[in-house]
Order: sequence, then C-alpha cells, then structure tokens
Amino acid sequence: MKSANFNTDLSQDTFDTPDIKSEPMECRRCGVCCTRHQAFVEPEDIVRIVSYLGITMQDWERLYDDSRWQFSEYRLIRHVNGACAFLEYDNGLATCAIHPVKPACCDSWKPGPDRAECKEGLKRRVA
Ligand code: SF4
Ligand code: SF4
Repeated sequence: MKSANFNTDLSQDTFDTPDIKSEPMECRRCGVCCTRHQAFVEPEDIVRIVSYLGITMQDWERLYDDSRWQFSEYRLIRHVNGACAFLEYDNGLATCAIHPVKPACCDSWKPGPDRAECKEGLKRRVA
C-alpha cells in the first residue's frame, strides 16, 4: 500500500500515515482529512471505483483523475472546491461517496486525537 503525498495546491501537508501512539478515537466526520489531502489510487483501486460508480475509464479521467500527477502508475483523486471530489456532507457530517470501495490509503487512515486534522475537526465540533 502506498500513501498519498501530493496535494492540490502542492503546499499542504501530506496524506501520510504516521505512527499514532495515542488511543484511537471515533471519527467525528468533520471531513478535514479529505480536504487537507489527496488520496493516492492504485490501478486496482481505480478499477474498483469505476466499476462501483458504473462509469467509464474516460469518465474517471475527465472527472476524478488529477492529470497533474504523471510520476507513476499511481494516480491522485482530484480535488474540487478544495476537497476530494468524493467528499459529500450529510446533515453536516462528512461522508465518502465511494466508501465501500475507497482507496487503500483512505481505508488505512485512522482517526486519532494526535492527528492535526482530527484536532481541527474536534475544535469545529465543539465550536
Ligand atoms: S476517497 Fe473518500 S475517504 Fe478518500 S479522501 Fe476522498 S472522500 Fe475522503
Ligand atoms: S479528520 Fe479525523 S475526525 Fe475528521 S473526518 Fe478525518 S478521521 Fe474523522
């Protein structure tokens, strides 16, 4: 599994998976992680997602692929309006439109109280 390290504005933090030593926490569905980082997709991820959405590979490239990334067979999911193209909100709670088939890097991302993204989300929930 490869984790993402590329962002839409090329200056934000990376979507890596650092070792988090603290206890895991329940995801608060703030969506910060999906706005802060871009997800890497491996070829098999793309096949699963395209099949799940019932779209063509051309649709994938037109709507979801970040064409700026040309450095490997891995691809990046495009950001739209500052967030992953698959990030949606349901009554203010972040949800992933491709949750059942989301990329491996997203699947391995675990919320934790030491993560800057989750801390930001917790602040938003308290505010
Ligand atoms: S694919 Fe889903 S979980 Fe991964 S960054 Fe996009 S919205 Fe978030
Ligand atoms: S930043 Fe943390 S709490 Fe917010 S959606 Fe991502 S994993 Fe969940």
